[in-house]
Amino acid sequence: MAISADKIWFDGELIPFADAKVHVLTHTLHYGLGAFEGIRCYKRADGRPAIFRLKEHIRRLFDSCHICLMEIPFSQEEIERACIETVKANGFGDCYLRPVVFLGDGEMGLGARTNKVRVSVIAWEWGTYLGEEGLQNGIRAKVSSFARNHVNTMMAKGKINGHYVNSILAKREVMLQGYQEAIMLDTEGYVSEASGENIFLIRDGEIITTPIGGSILGGITRDTIVQLAKDRDLNVKEMRFTRDMLYVADEVFVVGTAAEVTPIREIDNRTIGDGTPGPLTKDLQKAYFDHVRGSATTHAEWLTFVD
Ligand code: PMP
Repeated sequence: MAISADKIWFDGELIPFADAKVHVLTHTLHYGLGAFEGIRCYKRADGRPAIFRLKEHIRRLFDSCHICLMEIPFSQEEIERACIETVKANGFGDCYLRPVVFLGDGEMGLGARTNKVRVSVIAWEWGTYLGEEGLQNGIRAKVSSFARNHVNTMMAKGKINGHYVNSILAKREVMLQGYQEAIMLDTEGYVSEASGENIFLIRDGEIITTPIGGSILGGITRDTIVQLAKDRDLNVKEMRFTRDMLYVADEVFVVGTAAEVTPIREIDNRTIGDGTPGPLTKDLQKAYFDHVRGSATTHAEWLTFVD
């Protein structure tokens, strides 16, 4: 479905949707050096829209640009404000926010240094990423034949435009085979993450996720789940694991801003647990939704109200 909105924030001002255009010589379009974020705003139980973990997302955007040696011509506070203003200007409640930083047109070639760093914030109304059915009953995933980028090939701690070729190759590969999400292994063969989500497994009550010090993006939802688990006196162990540990897990789920907390019911044609979302997955998923859009306020620091 085509994206639409009334206004887009572009280089410091809100402009009509149709005017937010760039030249075909836009450097990032050719070479992929740029950074972006994916953030959700939820209309909460009390009717007030709140952006979830805005500060952490904008901090990661600045980290991504720092990794790329791109200087954003705005402060973090200004980009946070741009996100709030974009939601407001469009009158949205539930929506997805996409700040993007890219190199504009001007010079070409890999050594270009003078192209203007441009910043836009786009908001649109976006439903569940892996489907409502998937959120409820779990999805079918497959390990992709494409390895996650080596840690010295692409900088995994950055959410960098060009990195997503790797994710899209994996996603398209498994979708063409009838699966909904791709699980990617690192270049040593250990589980890394899904194409756009971090991954958790549970066996005998122990919750395990891949370590931050590897090839994964430092997901903000991952961090949210770790904190929500701690709130429940559950410990999350960060360790490398193999694909067959997923096969024999009692529960597996993936987490991300877009995918939220999505159970996985089958991997590589092996049923996970009894093939339905397990109790810890359901409990953490419920806690997540209570915090993002329900009435839970135990982590008020995660919410930026738009009004
Ligand atoms: N890994 C990858 C590759 C992603 O694209 C995303 C989505 N940004 C995530 C993990 C999850 O990150 P977050 O929870 O911050 O959205």
